[in-house]
Amino acid sequence: MFDKILIANRGEIALRVLRACKELGIKTVAVHSTADADAMHVKLADESVCIGPPPARESYLNIPALIAACEITGAEAVHPGYGFLSENARFADILDQHNIAFIGPKAEHIRMMGDKIEAKRTAKRLGIPCVPGSDGGVTNDVDAARIAEEIGYPVLVKAAAGGGGRGMKVAMTAEDLSDALATARAEALAAFGDDAVYLEKYLQKPRHIELQVLGDGQGHAIHLGERDCSLQRRHQKVWEEGPSPALNAAQRSKIGDIVAKAMVELGYVGAGTIEFLYENGEFYFIEMNTRIQVEHPVTEMITGIDLVNEQIKIAAGSPLSIKQSDVQIEGHAIECRINAENAATFRPSPGTISYFHPPGGLGVRVDSAVYQGYKIPPYYDSLIGKLIVHGRTRTECLMRLRRAIDEFVVDGVETTLPLFRTLVRNADIQNGLYDIHWLEKFLEAGGMSDSA
Ligand code: ADP
Repeated sequence: MFDKILIANRGEIALRVLRACKELGIKTVAVHSTADADAMHVKLADESVCIGPPPARESYLNIPALIAACEITGAEAVHPGYGFLSENARFADILDQHNIAFIGPKAEHIRMMGDKIEAKRTAKRLGIPCVPGSDGGVTNDVDAARIAEEIGYPVLVKAAAGGGGRGMKVAMTAEDLSDALATARAEALAAFGDDAVYLEKYLQKPRHIELQVLGDGQGHAIHLGERDCSLQRRHQKVWEEGPSPALNAAQRSKIGDIVAKAMVELGYVGAGTIEFLYENGEFYFIEMNTRIQVEHPVTEMITGIDLVNEQIKIAAGSPLSIKQSDVQIEGHAIECRINAENAATFRPSPGTISYFHPPGGLGVRVDSAVYQGYKIPPYYDSLIGKLIVHGRTRTECLMRLRRAIDEFVVDGVETTLPLFRTLVRNADIQNGLYDIHWLEKFLEAGGMSDSA
């Protein structure tokens, strides 16, 4: 097992990794930018190293500074969290060259899944069902028009290097296609420095359902059930829950077995998420995330398995200690992402948290790195915490969530708590009747206009 781990991240996920390290008796090194000198992960770590000025590219994305921090402190492994360098294959390679373990999958798998065209090709080869679409990238408009005709409109133009919903454009009819291609290419080039795009059938009312997997690269892989992340705004997840209100146990184990078998065949190492759209009883692969995800606590609450602890043990070379039959889904969990933003306009609200009172009690978990008096720096994302609630049934979970949201007090900055206060009382949400467009339609119809 590792003696010391460097956590190459900030905010709640840095704290989450730190907690797993402490429980395993592993020493921790925090890194921070000058803007984060007062951050909670820095206060709680055994050691800390300042790695640069506030902009992420000069600090949290600064590979030479991170390698130097490992060498100065003698850290043997790096946990990248999510975002920043977590899906950067070059970083994994460089760590390897310095004999530092990367707590994540093999660089080749990060690379494969980071290119969405390659990822889809791999998924297909491994027997994972995919969204009908172009077989690879589309380079000219004439080919694109022919392929779109074959797939049938509406079609979605997607960036090969895509992420965070950028570089994605819908063409409802043939007339829209060339505009959609041009816009998606331009957006992809600006965001990722790569204008390769591909086509996919645009599903009209799908749910977003993703499967959590763990593999050890030693012949074993398991799935830990699904999370339903259909409640999204601008393709960003807002509310995640598990199990999905749309699936039964037989459907879960059918798709779960397909992905677990695929991960064994791939020799996948560590935690990963296979994302699907789900419509009319069918699953369609969209992408794989080769890292721990923001919404991983949902799975932890319904399985009782500490995913970060498993990631660390796997990276240290241990074979998977859990068998598929050990994974039992119990009860229901919901996670709300609480951002320092206006709940109606989603305008960021940086500033100082003058009062902070998180909820507690049975089945309530708050993953947050903020505290009373903490000044939210304007340089990074606006997530200030995640409220995760578990209940024996979905109904109990919703009742508990309503109570926990009402208990949660954050003063000094605006937060998205009012959005969740509204959602938890909404009939469609209570009945589990929502698809990936539900939230945007609800907001467009003025669902939150009272709180603007
Ligand atoms: P990104 O990597 O940018 O997050 P994804 O491929 O994961 O992109 O898709 C993000 C979201 O975009 C999905 O959760 C879904 O809401 C929507 N989406 C993606 N592909 C399709 C599709 N073929 N049809 C309809 N919606 C889609």
